[in-house]
Amino acid sequence: MQCEVCGGEIRGKPVEIMVEGSIMKVCQRCKRFGNEPGKWKPFSLKQSPEKRVIIPKKKRVPKIEVEEEIIPEYNEIIKRERERKGWTQEKLAKKISEKVSLIGKIERGEIVPEPRVIRKIEQLFNIKLTEKVQDVEIRSRKGEITPTLGDIAVIKRK
Ligand SMILES: [Zn+2]
Repeated sequence: MQCEVCGGEIRGKPVEIMVEGSIMKVCQRCKRFGNEPGKWKPFSLKQSPEKRVIIPKKKRVPKIEVEEEIIPEYNEIIKRERERKGWTQEKLAKKISEKVSLIGKIERGEIVPEPRVIRKIEQLFNIKLTEKVQDVEIRSRKGEITPTLGDIAVIKRK
């Protein structure tokens, strides 16, 4: 017959042990995982060093809200910067090696560009289209007048 703990073949007489309140028939090697009935003491199989499953604990890193988010006016800023240079959407698309249709969608605010596209546009126009979430909170807490798009562009260039 098989040992109910390790699953191995029991040679000779199985040993009855109490494991977490139930009787198991085990081999000689596994009898230490429990207590023989009569000598029963609270004993958990989980406490056995050889049967212990080590569950990796997740590192408790305090979550800091410094994630960058694209600013809500990204589409207007991109459009304005493009027009300032006198470029067509096609030209901008070529400059950053993206499709014209993508530029159109970005400028209409239909899609949020991928981070890699954002970076390319930022570098091209020397602007910042992302902001840290924290910054937004601080700014709104001050209760200042909502900056105009021009103001934002100036702030971001610093
Ligand atoms: Zn066993």
